Amino acid sequence: MGDGGNDGAGRRCPACGGGPLVAWRTVPGSDPALPGDYELARCPACGSAVTLAPAPAEAHEQGAYGGGRPRGARLAEPLLGAFDRRRLTFLARAGASPPGRMLDIGAGRGRFVAHARAAGWDADGIEPSQRGVQAALARGIELQQAAVDDADVTPGSLDAATLWHVLEHLDDPGAALERIAGWLQPGGLLVIGVPNLASVQARVGGARWYHLDVPRHRTHFTVAGLHALLRSQGLEPIATHHLLAEHNPFGLWQSLVSRATRTPSWLYHALKRNAPLRSGDALVTASALPLAPLAVAAETAFALARRGGTVAVVARRVG
Ligand SMILES: [Zn+2]
Repeated sequence: MGDGGNDGAGRRCPACGGGPLVAWRTVPGSDPALPGDYELARCPACGSAVTLAPAPAEAHEQGAYGGGRPRGARLAEPLLGAFDRRRLTFLARAGASPPGRMLDIGAGRGRFVAHARAAGWDADGIEPSQRGVQAALARGIELQQAAVDDADVTPGSLDAATLWHVLEHLDDPGAALERIAGWLQPGGLLVIGVPNLASVQARVGGARWYHLDVPRHRTHFTVAGLHALLRSQGLEPIATHHLLAEHNPFGLWQSLVSRATRTPSWLYHALKRNAPLRSGDALVTASALPLAPLAVAAETAFALARRGGTVAVVARRVG
């Protein structure tokens, strides 16, 4: 490592299969619990990037992912419900409506499964973390504790699957999509949400882009890279949504504020009880709150230009 031009040498792009990857940039760990510098390499063909060093074994149990109820969680509930309904509309617009068999992959605390059931779907979820499975159980949702590669799902059994901000965490996204495609029946739909490295906010945020989440994010997809990966697994992209209130305005705003704070994404980490509230960063953050409506307007414009900070792609299983 570290010869400046050849890191990740020989590795092919995990998204489009092109390459070899070339050294791109060194970025700080996105979480105070995961300090240090991480090298990223980029695909010359599709522009997607990878985090070269492996994620620490406990990366998804530490820091912002360490569990516990975030500050303001109760206030956020109605908003989160609106985001879940929006995710369901992507399926409806693609012609899938309840009742049907749906699986939420990486279901977290089961919130989306609960909303999908309330909307009439025959919905279940898989989730690798015991913490998530237990939290889901507390709300009456029994999730299968499993990752994509060890989940027990009947091949060809699903009308729809959702993979919401999960694919970028996987070391082998192609293998995961191959498995998931096999769970769908022919014509079945998959909704995938990922950060968009080809977005305006990725460029503005640079090494401190809110949605970089290094080292937990293994692949940093561009839309072109994600589309290529889906097609390689027999999943034809039929819609790509850039207007996503769930992640995009906050991601832009937080990325801008991170240029001036000591801790990257201080507000996010403070809400996750992962950064001290008494901090100079609090003052900087408070003074930037009036920029929030501008972030909403800007991301709306970026979405029209198909450069949204995150994207939701709907793909249909071919054959
Ligand atoms: Zn590529």
